[in-house]
Amino acid sequence: MKNICYESTSKCLLECPYCISSDNGTLIQDNYQEIINFIGKLRPERIVIGGGEPLLDPLLKEKIQLIINKYQENNEKPYISLSTSGACKN
Ligand code: SF4
Repeated sequence: MKNICYESTSKCLLECPYCISSDNGTLIQDNYQEIINFIGKLRPERIVIGGGEPLLDPLLKEKIQLIINKYQENNEKPYISLSTSGACKN
């Protein structure tokens, strides 16, 4: 598998009129460990973490580290990129 787009959060501070993120609904339960286990099995060449706005996800660092750990189990390094507007409070 080449690429996976992982929507880590549905939160966003902006309201772009063309946004399709809201089509996916609001993330109610974040079962990220299950998702990252699945990503670890597929081990795509590239993982794009988006949203919503991924920088608003308080678990973002933990999720990235979990992905790195999954790849390291196979002596590999993941290629991770963020799809972000950069719009966040922090
Ligand atoms: S920044 Fe991205 S997620 Fe946020 S409203 Fe705009 S298109 Fe949607």
